[in-house]
Amino acid sequence: MSCSFTDNTVNVEGSLNAVENRINLAIAQTNTALLNSNVDDCELRIELAAIEKLNFTESFSIFDDVTRLRDNTTINDIVENLRNVHDADIVVLLAGENYFDGFGIVSDIGPNEEEPYAVVSTGAATTGRYTFAHEVAHLFGARHEETNDNIGRIEHGHEFKTGNFLPCVFGSKQRTIMHTLDEGSRIQHFSNPSVYYDGTKTGKDGIRENANKLKSTACTVSSFKQTFIPTSLYIVNDNCSCPCDDASLSAVINTSTAGVSFTFEWEYSIDGINWTVDNYFNGASFSYQMPCTEDNTIFFRTTAIGSDGTSITSSTESITSTILCQAAGSTCAQERNSLDNKLDAIVSITSNPTHTNQLLEIDVEILKEGNYSLNILKESGVLQSTIFKNTFIERGHHYYNHKIAHPGIYFIRVTDGDGITTTEKLLVI
Ligand SMILES: [Zn+2]
Repeated sequence: MSCSFTDNTVNVEGSLNAVENRINLAIAQTNTALLNSNVDDCELRIELAAIEKLNFTESFSIFDDVTRLRDNTTINDIVENLRNVHDADIVVLLAGENYFDGFGIVSDIGPNEEEPYAVVSTGAATTGRYTFAHEVAHLFGARHEETNDNIGRIEHGHEFKTGNFLPCVFGSKQRTIMHTLDEGSRIQHFSNPSVYYDGTKTGKDGIRENANKLKSTACTVSSFKQTFIPTSLYIVNDNCSCPCDDASLSAVINTSTAGVSFTFEWEYSIDGINWTVDNYFNGASFSYQMPCTEDNTIFFRTTAIGSDGTSITSSTESITSTILCQAAGSTCAQERNSLDNKLDAIVSITSNPTHTNQLLEIDVEILKEGNYSLNILKESGVLQSTIFKNTFIERGHHYYNHKIAHPGIYFIRVTDGDGITTTEKLLVI
């Protein structure tokens, strides 16, 4: 929605800041009322798309003012322009005037794409009358109680009594937001027979179901002004792949531009800086043979070129070549990819399984002195921590202590200078 105000609103509220606070409070109250009435976040939520002062001199009559908002060409052009620029579906003018003929009014009970206008007096907007929420609901088609407004079926406000022992005699009178109000205040609910207030239904089946009415028209109102979805492009893939295997990637493109088709230019890089274009693939799917050495990471990106001449490039994704990829299938054929596959290190863990935050001891027995790395990987193959990296280690037993904070399956892996690995599975409970 867009919300306009006038010089008089600023005068009455005392400052521009106070006007903005009033508008934010009014929207928050409306959304709370929706939640209270079992209209959840994904069904209907009011958002402020724009807030702007309108060059508009208020009259003493709210009826006259809403009519001018609709019929005065100059004013209507400004309001409609604001709607178009900000994709605002409905418009509320928050007026400073304490009108003689009403606290709030709409140009028409909605949904009406041509004139979704309301005027609300700021003095009543966020009081116990919930006039702002009341008028906004009118713009979605909600109506007063059927005894006051007999048009429609379920879209009516509700009045009931709570807290009484002799039914309907001594209880306090409660009215939902769409019920008319001669005195007192309303509860922050739209009528809904499935929702209870102080143990009493807040609606009547088939007649006082404002909440269901609001849900049913939410899509219609929210499509008055379409929000333009900018084109987005991203790559989906398994983030690891077996050494030497083909990694498969797909481009996902979202666009609101109808009728445009796309070709894709795929690029790969071993360092994320220097890129090579692959000329073989030009569709949304891409395949790449991963390096046969473990822990090698390849970077990928793609550019979608539209038939209308537009283009967009995805962000960069990477895939690592590792034998521990659960997503790619945990068993890789190329567990060792060097001719010299003699095991140069033996790793064992005490105790295994272990508990979270318990000190465990990793025993690395080195059979041939040389450079080694010791890494802990998560079940997914993602590196959790490095205990040492490419460090010269002598023959013999070497002990390392470590704690793991979260339960799960981990892999303790020693890698030698030739890239040969030995891995122990660790269960943390
Ligand atoms: Zn009303």
